[in-house]
Amino acid sequence: MAERIHCLIIGSGPAGYTAAIYAARAGLKPVMITGMLQGGQLINTTDVENYPGYPKGILGPEMMEDFKNQAERFGTDIRFGYVSKVDFSVTPKKIWVDGEKELEADAVILATGAEAKWLGLPSEKRLNGSGVSACAVCDGFFYKNTEVAIVGAGDTACEEAIYLSKLCTTVHMIVRRDEMRASKIMQQRVLDTKNIKVYWNSETDEILGETVVEAVRVKNVKSGELTTIPVSGFFVAIGHQPNSAVFKDYIDTDDQGYVITTPDSTKTKAEGVFACGDLKDKVYRQAVTAAGSGCMAALEAERWLSEKGIH
Ligand code: NDP
Repeated sequence: MAERIHCLIIGSGPAGYTAAIYAARAGLKPVMITGMLQGGQLINTTDVENYPGYPKGILGPEMMEDFKNQAERFGTDIRFGYVSKVDFSVTPKKIWVDGEKELEADAVILATGAEAKWLGLPSEKRLNGSGVSACAVCDGFFYKNTEVAIVGAGDTACEEAIYLSKLCTTVHMIVRRDEMRASKIMQQRVLDTKNIKVYWNSETDEILGETVVEAVRVKNVKSGELTTIPVSGFFVAIGHQPNSAVFKDYIDTDDQGYVITTPDSTKTKAEGVFACGDLKDKVYRQAVTAAGSGCMAALEAERWLSEKGIH
């Protein structure tokens, strides 16, 4: 028989852990299924300096350990695993973990976050971790005093290009249009940084290298001209993809896959299923805003369970 859970939380970033802290303190006996990246995106970050309560800043992995300890202190049952399938059309809701173990849950909080998008080139996949990275802050250090390339033109790409420019001799920034999507101030900072060279109207044609990145071949989409730039690191900063695919048959998502909730609420289309954090937020995407929406989800789950008389 499937195990019955009162409040199931899927995901272990700031949203999931905050939901767990509130749900546990409210007596909902939450069980958390962490996902493969326990702690979420912050696990791949170094200094976090904008999370209130840490006046001296803190390392991302340490902060997530603090979140975890706080959730456990109030009795959250934290389990490592991956939710592979759900059925939210039945009562109680059904959830399958790691492809086999079946759980039943009264209320479910979705906090599966988002992950980096990739270009989709075979060379990008082959050289991932061998010079190809989606996180300059995590991996930039390895390319100190060398030349690197970065693709993207949003605020993330600009921020990461500036970060890399402080470590690397030259940062080659590949921009697919003749303008950037980033805020004006970030664009200006990039353009004012002497060792960032911008390639406008350019696409990544291929990342070159047998076992490690050695160069990138860039194609100018207007002229068709190909340029090979020797680099030792290739950073992808073209946005993020919300982890909503497994739930999409039961809840509404927008054209990018972000979960749509009732305005000013974490309620989804499926009754008793709440969504929080980056999974539903493409605008702010901050640890503190994710934590705030995790709190909302737990409060709304508690209210819903009590209104329905489910104990
Ligand atoms: P965005 O979606 O804003 O930008 C993605 C960038 O990648 C765009 O320039 C886009 O080009 C480009 N891109 C997408 N796909 C490809 C591709 N296949 N090949 C080449 N280029 C591609 O993502 P961000 O992660 O930069 O930002 C997400 C949100 O987070 C934004 O709202 C941003 O403002 C915010 N943010 C704010 C920060 C801050 O305020 N400090 C820091 C970081 C993020 P195109 O423009 O042509 O579509």
